[in-house]
Amino acid sequence: MQNKSGHSNITLYLILAAIVLGFILGHYYPYTALELKFLGDIFLNALFMLVVPLVVASMITGITRLGRIAKLGTLGIKTLFYYLTTTGISVIIGIVLVNILQPGTGVTREQDYHPDSPYAIHATPLRGGSELRLIGEGDNFYATDYTSKFIIVLLDQNVKGIIDDKAKATDRRIPIEYWVDAEGRKVEPDVSGRGVQVRLADKEFSFIDVLIGLIPKNIFGAAVNNNILPLIVFSLIFGAILTSLGEKGVPVVQLFEGLNEAFMKFIQILMYFAPLGILGLVAARLGQAELTLEGGFLTEVTRMAKYFSTVIIGLLIHAVFVLAPILFIFGRRSVLPYLANVSPALLTAFSTASSSATLPVTLESVEKKNKVSNRTAGFVLPLGATINMDGTALYEAVAAIFIAQVYNVPLGFGEQVIIFLTATLAAIGAAGIPEAGLVTMVIVLKAVGLPTEGIAMILAIDWFLDRCRTTVNVWGDSVGAAVIDVWERNGNVRGTK
Ligand code: ASP
Repeated sequence: MQNKSGHSNITLYLILAAIVLGFILGHYYPYTALELKFLGDIFLNALFMLVVPLVVASMITGITRLGRIAKLGTLGIKTLFYYLTTTGISVIIGIVLVNILQPGTGVTREQDYHPDSPYAIHATPLRGGSELRLIGEGDNFYATDYTSKFIIVLLDQNVKGIIDDKAKATDRRIPIEYWVDAEGRKVEPDVSGRGVQVRLADKEFSFIDVLIGLIPKNIFGAAVNNNILPLIVFSLIFGAILTSLGEKGVPVVQLFEGLNEAFMKFIQILMYFAPLGILGLVAARLGQAELTLEGGFLTEVTRMAKYFSTVIIGLLIHAVFVLAPILFIFGRRSVLPYLANVSPALLTAFSTASSSATLPVTLESVEKKNKVSNRTAGFVLPLGATINMDGTALYEAVAAIFIAQVYNVPLGFGEQVIIFLTATLAAIGAAGIPEAGLVTMVIVLKAVGLPTEGIAMILAIDWFLDRCRTTVNVWGDSVGAAVIDVWERNGNVRGTK
């Protein structure tokens, strides 16, 4: 036992050291840091390799251990209650903070809206596709790190270009994969004109589509695409059926229990390599930021200091003054040991910016180290990784109101309520992958009529805030597992703590 916890402590220190070293390398030796990217990629691949099998195995064993399937209903309701209240609280913290600190007042409105600028479109035969160039003297794009989440609009032609993120943009040129007209048909636009704007791609979020998406057409297709929600639904139903089979179901249940144990072991072994992987992830991302941002990452953070610190302070308040007391009071756990045990998961979340990629580590830390029952953790954590995102929700609200402040759009109480609702929704809808929250922010911005091109201002530092909010997302899931475990035990065994 001594030896075991000694081991995990060493891994933890090594991970911390890797993060510090990653920052130093990324800052001072960005080129060397970029060379280390492969270490991060290997680690990330290994994590993703385990996500799908672990989700299925841990969900199925969790469900079958519930005993009676009627309990699934109460477990589900308690879990949703926890997710919604904590997410709601975090959005409120965000809204209050951003209204008090006013990070957007006095900030210059940096955006890529160039209504009069002349442009030219050039074919890029080698890559396939084309390139939009600003040709007016002194015209340039404010941000250059646009990805395919953005579109460029030719204002005079009403044609949209889908940005190609495999090619490099500069402050005068943006690579385009293809162009579409207002109806979404592919077109070849006129090669010159006036007026361009870059904004977030429109994304229609429909409740019906989400519902349809929950049922996979092909279970392996969902697995291949790391589509976690449909896999959860499948595993839920499958686990429920297994428990109703009696004798015949037993060997199958045992098989999944064995698989679950094996995957847990797998993740424990993988964690020995975590320090190296995390070093690669942190160093390479910072290195990239240092090389692409004018004046480097710190200059950009300083420029955006007020917005940056509003998000960080909000996240800290939620993690320390909301989630930690919830863990202590409702989860009946001492916060520090619990935190120490899940910190490999939190640091992995910080390094990968993905709750889904972190899920194997979260499951291992919560079940094996913090001894939360597999019955609860197996259900609460996979579901939480995709829908319970306190950090993301807080960030969405702060970012949207920040944009409103910069654009001088006054937001009344009613609008703030709409932001509260849509930020919660946008966080639920965001997948557990890097920068997912940035995309679903369209929901929030559109709901209150804010300009989606305002996102350009927060883009350059978003990768870092993404890591911070993902850490809080995973902390929220881990705390939830402990709390719901207590609620479950109280519901099952009367009088026992
Ligand atoms: N990257 C976040 C996560 O995986 C989601 C987001 O806020 O973009 O939890």
